[in-house]
Amino acid sequence: MKCPSCRTRELVVIEMKVASEKIALRTCSPCDLRYWEGLDGQLPLDSVLALVSKR
Ligand SMILES: [Zn+2]
Repeated sequence: MKCPSCRTRELVVIEMKVASEKIALRTCSPCDLRYWEGLDGQLPLDSVLALVSKR
């Protein structure tokens, strides 16, 4: 998947499992872009933090 911002680089995907949910962090370092993705699509940072603190 290409970065939606610069449209040239591939997004770096870091997958991890938090509180039995699989989430992925997608980043493009030249754009300083990063967003989280869960099973239902993009996750706001608040939801990610909520999942992490659930442990
Ligand atoms: Zn980019």
